[in-house]
Amino acid sequence: MERIYMDNAATTATDPTVLEEMKPYFTEVYGNPSSFHSFGREARDAVREARDKVADLISADDAKEIVFTSGGTESDNYAIKGVAEELKDKGKHIITSSIEHHAVLHTCEYLEDKGFDVTYLPVDEDGLVDPADVKDAIREDTILITIMLANNEVGTIQPISEISEIAQENDITIHTDAVQAVGSIPVDVNELNVDLLSLSGHKFHSPKGIGALYIRQGTRIEKYLHGGAQERGRRATTENVAGIVGLGKAAQIAGQNLEEKQAKITQLRDKLIDGILEEIDEIKLNGHRTKRLPGNVNFSIRYIEGESILMKLDLAGIAASSGSACTSGSLEASHVLLAMGLSAEVAHGSLRLSLSKYNTEEDIDKVLNVLPEVVSDLRAMSPIYNQD
Ligand SMILES: *Cc1c(COP(=O)(O)O)cnc(C)c1O
Repeated sequence: MERIYMDNAATTATDPTVLEEMKPYFTEVYGNPSSFHSFGREARDAVREARDKVADLISADDAKEIVFTSGGTESDNYAIKGVAEELKDKGKHIITSSIEHHAVLHTCEYLEDKGFDVTYLPVDEDGLVDPADVKDAIREDTILITIMLANNEVGTIQPISEISEIAQENDITIHTDAVQAVGSIPVDVNELNVDLLSLSGHKFHSPKGIGALYIRQGTRIEKYLHGGAQERGRRATTENVAGIVGLGKAAQIAGQNLEEKQAKITQLRDKLIDGILEEIDEIKLNGHRTKRLPGNVNFSIRYIEGESILMKLDLAGIAASSGSACTSGSLEASHVLLAMGLSAEVAHGSLRLSLSKYNTEEDIDKVLNVLPEVVSDLRAMSPIYNQD
């Protein structure tokens, strides 16, 4: 059976061109970038080129502002704990939102245990943070604002440049988790005017286990891993050279015709959204209709458990998700949907279909063909649906 992958917010396929670019760095160019000899030099050059490519994708002024990490989770941990540790004598208050990825939320909760104070801002029914709320939350001892650029469950894109203006006026460091955005929409660290930005390779067609943290020059932040002098002493450990090369290549590819790819995926997304709205009743689109990631579709389908839709879709060869990969398998309703005001019952019936450049018009047609039937089959078995 031909399978369709629509869980690109969880992870993406590695682009074959990226894999080809990486291959020599396992068995041929295997030197340690810190070594003096030609093997080391070649590896060092490769890391430098990759750093330039990542800096280019997010329009960083200087490649030195890019620190390679093991992925989005590490970048978020580094940014938040690094600033907290560095500025704890100045203050212990952090502002974030209630719809962040767990990599941010659980890091903030950890810091609360260590004596920090965290404000979790609410969002409106579309999942948007109000910049006025950020302003109101600022205190004398606020040291960090961390708010995601785009949400991984509902795709809503936050007004980060407005929020960073407020941060700047108050001389507060600002971090954004841009893991879902980078590679999918244009991301420019100067337009966003952030001090720190997290990105992850496996969300835009490089392998898993490689990412980066952008650190604007002059930002005060404690180093993350103590050891050797790698990454300008900020993150010791011998570089993941092949992964870094892959991330660089993926960044370069993502930057090429980004707007065209964005438009194509947006068109597929809208066809899917409109088609589902037309075919299925008692259904609600989650997330902002237009301020949303090109590849994100998220619906709450009443009278149905998300898990049972996923199972039926999987049997039909369609890979989707009920929210974030990290919370599926747990019975808790999505913290994102609850924060957007959905009831636990409605939140449980949510379905996320996330697209990438590899999805086609045929994929959309297939889903539009299969999903309405899956929903009506499940509803036929639901006592509450039949009662209502
Ligand atoms: C996937 C994701 C992360 C975690 O990235 P990893 O590379 O898997 O650690 C963090 N934040 C957001 C918004 C994500 O979508």
